[in-house]
Order: sequence, then structure tokens, then C-alpha cells
Amino acid sequence: MVNQLYGGVEAGGTKFVCAVGTPNRILKSVTIPTTNPDDTISEALSFFRKQKIELGDLAGLGIGSFGPLDINSDSSAFGRIGKTPKSNWSDFNLMTAFAELNCPINIDTDVNAAGLAEAILGAGRNKKVVLYITVGTGIGVGVIFNSLSFRGRDHPEIGHILIQQDSQDDGFAGVCPYHGNCLEGLASGPAIEKRWGVSLSQLPIDHPAHSLQARYLSVLCMNLILSFSPDVILIGGGVMKAPGLLDNIRNNVMTLLKGYVPSVQTLDEVEALIKMPRLGNQAGIIGSLLLGERASLILLE
Ligand code: ZN
Repeated sequence: MVNQLYGGVEAGGTKFVCAVGTPNRILKSVTIPTTNPDDTISEALSFFRKQKIELGDLAGLGIGSFGPLDINSDSSAFGRIGKTPKSNWSDFNLMTAFAELNCPINIDTDVNAAGLAEAILGAGRNKKVVLYITVGTGIGVGVIFNSLSFRGRDHPEIGHILIQQDSQDDGFAGVCPYHGNCLEGLASGPAIEKRWGVSLSQLPIDHPAHSLQARYLSVLCMNLILSFSPDVILIGGGVMKAPGLLDNIRNNVMTLLKGYVPSVQTLDEVEALIKMPRLGNQAGIIGSLLLGERASLILLE
């Protein structure tokens, strides 16, 4: 049997990555700057048209996009980007934009797509409940349950949960344009730069920024463990490159849980539970190809 080909679009705020192949093997890909919908989408479409001629028809297309995004397949606005600071993309419908490729299309958020890739082909393989956290320009959390991303009426926005602000961080107003000092407002990359003037990795290891960051992210992990009872929490993104941060988070989680959760009693168990993702910056495009494969199987939830 001839392998089917799928298309993937990783639609990011600064670039679109488009690929053709399978989730395990990318045959062709291109990176297109995210400017305005007309230019970016027409470049993406011409890439896929060319690949269809050279490689053959696509059995399905998957899109993992920046949000907010309507991913409710019962909604009349399914596939539409909501209000975004990238104002010319507000209300733009990505599903409609790629309809001319004439294949089934599946769409999810960028963080859910990357989480799906990690859950199926990365560090969350063979686990039932996989939580994927990315800490960078924002904080995103994808909840993957039995290889499907959790979707509600809208998509979850766990990065914006309210947490108690640390007493040593009293004067900081936070950077979230909506909530000020929500988790993303306190612990995203831009929050760190606003508070200290540089990124976490640029600060000496004994600088209090490191322990403050670990405290905020360990509270997130604690809340996620209590909410979802995950098999694994994968935590990545630019901020997680700071040396020692993952171990500090694990140690804090041990302290915070106080032995309350039966399966998380020892540091070894915490280390097995909270880990780095494995697919790096490929997770988004691999996840989009997985969505394309599912579109072909009509597995839209
Ligand atoms: Zn917020």
C-alpha cells in the first residue's frame, strides 16, 4: 500500500511552517513569515499546490494555530481566530482559507498540536494523561487525554489562571494585558524581562529570579497534578532552558504536595512525572501532521 501524504501547518505569530509528509517523516517543508493573511496564506497555498503536483494529493491537512481560536467543531465559527493583538488576523478563518486544497482539514491550537505530538511520538508515548506546558512569550498548557486534546466550549487557557503572588514579588504588577498578575503575567518570558531587565538564563544562578520562577511554575504543576492526575507533565519552552530550573520545580513540587498524592511520594517519582519534552521545536509541525492524518480518518471529535 502506498503511504498516504498529509499536510501540516504550524501557524505561529511570527512564522508559518508548512510541511508535507507523514508525522514520522517530513518530505518537504517551508517557513513563511506571518505578515498579513493575504500574503502569508497565498504563499502557504502555493507551497501545497506545488507539492501536490510533485508528490501527490494530500489525504488530510492539519493546522496548529496561535489563538485564541475557535476549535469547537459544532460552532459556526470553527477554525476562526479570535481577537488578537495581530489585528489583521482577528476573525480570520484558517479552515476556510485552506479549503481549496480539497482535502479534509482538522485544526487545533498550537499548544494542543505540540502536546499531541509529544503524547504520541515524544516524551509522553504510551501515557494516558499527558500535560504539555510551554513557558515562553506566553504560558500555554495542552491537556491530552487518551491521545485527544481536551476541548471545551472554548479551548482551555490554563496559562491565565490566578495564583498567589509571592510575597517577595509584591510590587510587580504583571504583564498580562487582560489580568495583570495572572500566571502568564507573572512567569512568562516577557514577565521575567520586565521584572529583571534580562532573560532568566542571563542572570547568575544564585539570583533570586531563579527560585521565584521555580516557585511559580511549581504551583502550576501542583495545581495540574491535583486537577488532572496526569501520568506525565512535559514542561518546555524558551524559559525552561535556564539552568537548574526543572530540578528546582521538582523539588518545590515535592515540598508543596506534602505527600498528599499517593503516586507522588519520592523525588524519583516526581522526576518521572515532571520532565522535559523530547521533540523540541519540531513538536508543532509534527502535531499538525498528526492532525492532518486524523482529518483523513474523520476522527474530528
Ligand atoms: Zn492573563
